[in-house]
Amino acid sequence: MADNGAHISSSTSADLASIDAAIRSRNWLLRFPGKLEAVFERDTGEERSRDLIVRAYIGIVVYDLFAIADYWATPKLFWTAFWVRAAFFTPVALVITAILHTHPRAFIRESLICIGGGAIAVATIIFLMAESGGAPQATLHESMILVVLFLSVVQRTRFSFLAPTCLAIIVVHVLAVAYFYHYAMGQQVAINMVFSAAVIFALIAAYTMERDLRLHYLLSQRGLAQNSELDKMTRRDSLTGLGNRRALEETLAACEQFDFAVELSIVLLDIDHFKLFNDSAGHQAGDLCLKRVAGIIQAELRGQADHAFRFGGEEFIVVLPQTTMAKALVVAERMRRAIESAGIPHPALESAAYVTASFGVASGQPAFDLTANGIVANADECLYAAKRNGRNQVWPGSPAGIGPDTGTSTSLKA
Ligand code: GH3
Ligand code: MG
Ligand code: MG
Repeated sequence: MADNGAHISSSTSADLASIDAAIRSRNWLLRFPGKLEAVFERDTGEERSRDLIVRAYIGIVVYDLFAIADYWATPKLFWTAFWVRAAFFTPVALVITAILHTHPRAFIRESLICIGGGAIAVATIIFLMAESGGAPQATLHESMILVVLFLSVVQRTRFSFLAPTCLAIIVVHVLAVAYFYHYAMGQQVAINMVFSAAVIFALIAAYTMERDLRLHYLLSQRGLAQNSELDKMTRRDSLTGLGNRRALEETLAACEQFDFAVELSIVLLDIDHFKLFNDSAGHQAGDLCLKRVAGIIQAELRGQADHAFRFGGEEFIVVLPQTTMAKALVVAERMRRAIESAGIPHPALESAAYVTASFGVASGQPAFDLTANGIVANADECLYAAKRNGRNQVWPGSPAGIGPDTGTSTSLKA
């Protein structure tokens, strides 16, 4: 079934209901339900990769500047440390950053940060610890906390990746302090406790930041979805659900912009003797009838570009872009038959009479020979002709001008 024209300008990432559900769920697990997680990733992934790249370069420079500390704290180790930084850490970190330039999907991106920012930085530190031979001034293990801060606060690695990485770093820290330095057990416990506490604080900060980031995303999406919903409402007829006059005007204007060398057809239809229907059956029954007819018109639309609107009262208009008069007449006749054969009883007409409609059809090339509104005016004249000629018919008949396609004409109860 084709769009009703009320949706033309709307495009929202996620619907309001799923966003509200995600906000209500409070998101303790830092993962949105259903397809919202994929939408979140799609909306934020590229910008995240860009941020990561800039910060990765900063991280590499800061890390390499520690050569100054190497020179003063462990002069014997300086050249070893220099080559580890120059020939291992820096090139591997640059390769990982280059991969981030390709905007990889979330799993690869976050894993790369853990490997790039975490594993290779910690591996370098461990190697230098091993090489330092337990020199008291080579307090390299302390610098592991910088790696944790870089991953958690600077790169804001997704918590589900950050937490296991940080746990692994704590384990490595405990082992490295035990194996490479000659601290007494009491000192080791104190050093590891201070380190672990710092890691836990960083994890809490990272968890809070990610939760805030996700909430902020949900609230901004909610605003967008609400706007889009309002936008749709201002273009929809509340009774029938079809596009309203505003949506019609926008669609006609768009048709004029589109391709004026291509034919645009307009079908205008009006329910026959609808005043009598209301007078006999009441306005509520009349409203139901309008809804049914609108549903039938909508169901008869085929092309994605075809749109139906409520023109006013019991009149509807169908806009058929890139459609010739001959094809539009076929569409109109199909709709006429569908309304008639729906068998909606008309209480004011002769017995066994059903609701019918009259159709006016006109075509033209917008802005080339006629404006879109000019075509609508022609269709209106044809509709009057169909009414004058006995109702329940398409005017003109096919092909244009030869005569009307008629059904059984409707007549009033005597
Ligand atoms: P014709 O065959 O010549 O079109 O006759 P008609 O009675 O359908 O035309 P007329 O313009 O005289 O009457 C249109 C009626 O449509 C008048 C009004 O009662 C009814 N109408 C307009 N809008 C609504 C609506 O939203 N709900 C209901 N129930 N009726 C409506
Ligand atoms: Mg009317
Ligand atoms: Mg009418």
